Amino acid sequence: MRIRADLDLCQGHAVCQAEAPEVFTVPKRGRVEILDDAPTGEHEPAVANAIRYCPTQALSIADAGATDPSPKGTD
Ligand code: SF4
Repeated sequence: MRIRADLDLCQGHAVCQAEAPEVFTVPKRGRVEILDDAPTGEHEPAVANAIRYCPTQALSIADAGATDPSPKGTD
């Protein structure tokens, strides 16, 4: 699991910080800062909630090291 934040979308609501304070911090009138972009399993449920409840959908998961192995052909 690797977390990404789109800072163009983030509006500093800090819902993410409320859900997973070990992983996200949001300064006053600032935008999200990811404290741990590859959290261990114990934090995954909280991170999932943060992603789900972020009002601007600024957070997402990217697979670490993924290089898009999907074929580019058509079906
Ligand atoms: S909940 Fe979403 S919009 Fe709010 S600070 Fe976190 S990432 Fe930004």
